[in-house]
Amino acid sequence: MCGIVGYIGKRQVFPILIKGLKRLEYRGYDSAGVAMINDNGDLSVYKTKGKVADLEQFCEDKNITGTVGIAHTRWATHGEPSSVNAHPHYSESKNIAIIHNGIIENYADLKKKLVADGVKFRSDTDTEVIVQLIEYIQTRKNVDLLTAVRFALTQLIGAYAIAVLDKRDKDQIIAARKQSPLVIGIGEDEFFLGSDATPIIEYTDKVVYLDDDNIAVIRRGEDLKVVNTLNDTLNPEVCTVDLDLGQIEKGGFPHFMLKEIFEQPECLENCMRGRINVEANNVTLSAVIDYRRQLLAAKRVIIVACGTSWHAGLIGKQLIESLCRIPVEVEYASEFRYRNPVIDSSDVVIAISQSGETADTLAAVNLAKDNGAFVYGVCNAIGSSIPRDTDTGSYIHVGPEIGVASTKAFTGQVTVLLMLALALGKEKGTITNEQYSKIVSELCTVPEKMKSLLKLND
Ligand code: GLU
Repeated sequence: MCGIVGYIGKRQVFPILIKGLKRLEYRGYDSAGVAMINDNGDLSVYKTKGKVADLEQFCEDKNITGTVGIAHTRWATHGEPSSVNAHPHYSESKNIAIIHNGIIENYADLKKKLVADGVKFRSDTDTEVIVQLIEYIQTRKNVDLLTAVRFALTQLIGAYAIAVLDKRDKDQIIAARKQSPLVIGIGEDEFFLGSDATPIIEYTDKVVYLDDDNIAVIRRGEDLKVVNTLNDTLNPEVCTVDLDLGQIEKGGFPHFMLKEIFEQPECLENCMRGRINVEANNVTLSAVIDYRRQLLAAKRVIIVACGTSWHAGLIGKQLIESLCRIPVEVEYASEFRYRNPVIDSSDVVIAISQSGETADTLAAVNLAKDNGAFVYGVCNAIGSSIPRDTDTGSYIHVGPEIGVASTKAFTGQVTVLLMLALALGKEKGTITNEQYSKIVSELCTVPEKMKSLLKLND
């Protein structure tokens, strides 16, 4: 999940947003954007692929006046990294803009219904569904923004931290969260918003950490109001933060690797989100549904990868062989590409890479494709080269990994390989219903078990 910044008050908003985004750069991201209500009353959205510095340059000749705004650094989960898919996203009328961290599981269903009702979408993101749904409710039911947000949130399944601006009310930001952090900083006649406290603490040490299903109504000149989806007013606890910036940028950890180790339970929840249905005891991978025939026809699986991904592949071999009864070979991509390996159209090649750009693995993908194999990618970075070059695949959805030694990407890769082995084994009938249900329900408990191992519950 990437970065959120927001501000409403007396100061010029643009420098605060840019500085806040820069403070959040440590989280890694692929694009950035801002939405502001300018002094002339326009709701402007400026966004670019690339770095915050690119966004600043892009805004050089734009109207950046105004004292209310929201900003975002995106790590793509739905739709490739591009300026169109970057946040903020406008509603169809361009009256409302939204930023969002997280993943909306049921976005495809919601989008289908909105499109059938004539709503026009601009991006491939799950996020745009939220803002279009808010506007749809606002206009159809003729309700205010808060009510529309409340109603929209009850229809969402997934994780979100959002901030919403409406051009017709320059004195308000509405923010909400579920399973994705959001912090509000309280200053003198001004409010700050952040996905963590990093962009806030240089202005104020008074913060409110929103809880799940909390909706904050942040109004210029008024006290902070927090409600739930039923509109009951809540009493949020105002905390004092006493962290220094260096500490907070790494989430309080001395280095990124440790931070990423501790992120694993949350990352695995994101990795399984929308794919494992606990109640129905079911694993659904869209790639297995869409390419069932090609996957079931595999006479052999060849896993190609490098480094830590290769080690995930070794575990994948055990899982696929035992649950799907297909022979699996695990190859070092750098060796494989320079040999003259025997591959043909009865092979399925699984390419594993965190970045999706590992040069040897990419070369192995193309070699396999040239020899007629069906190629499946298991990657983290959305829209990177390997997912683009493979026939299908599954993202691991663990967010940016900055530490060079892989931690959360490794556990994400193993989780996806297990989900793949389960889904395929079920289709092939090589796994009993009992075995299947047992593994699925045990897999669901892994994040909680990891939390207790990491003592995150204490
Ligand atoms: N799911 C959203 C997207 O792909 C938000 C990603 C994020 O958390 O940065 O645009």
